[in-house]
Amino acid sequence: MQQKTVGTHKRPKWVKSGEEELCPECFKAVGDKNRYKLICLLGSSTEGMNVGAMTKKLKLTQPTVTHHLNILREVNAVNREERGRERIYRLNRSAHCFEDCQIPYN
Ligand SMILES: [Zn+2]
Repeated sequence: MQQKTVGTHKRPKWVKSGEEELCPECFKAVGDKNRYKLICLLGSSTEGMNVGAMTKKLKLTQPTVTHHLNILREVNAVNREERGRERIYRLNRSAHCFEDCQIPYN
């Protein structure tokens, strides 16, 4: 029996399509349901969003949203842009998670 070396984590049930087995990086991005909701929320926005808007939409606390965003930035799934005093987050649609592992974001 051959062992896969790349996909090591089973795709969570809340992610409806994409590779059956995710690499550790992608699993880190979508392994938490709220974190995946955040991906979909940012995926639906072309303009990008600030933390306040995401907090409202997802009914999560600001520290929770910030925590998830930091993890998403670690795996390069999300970019942050400073616009004056505001910090705008955008989904990095060309990230490995979406291009190679085919994780849907809408
Ligand atoms: Zn991957």
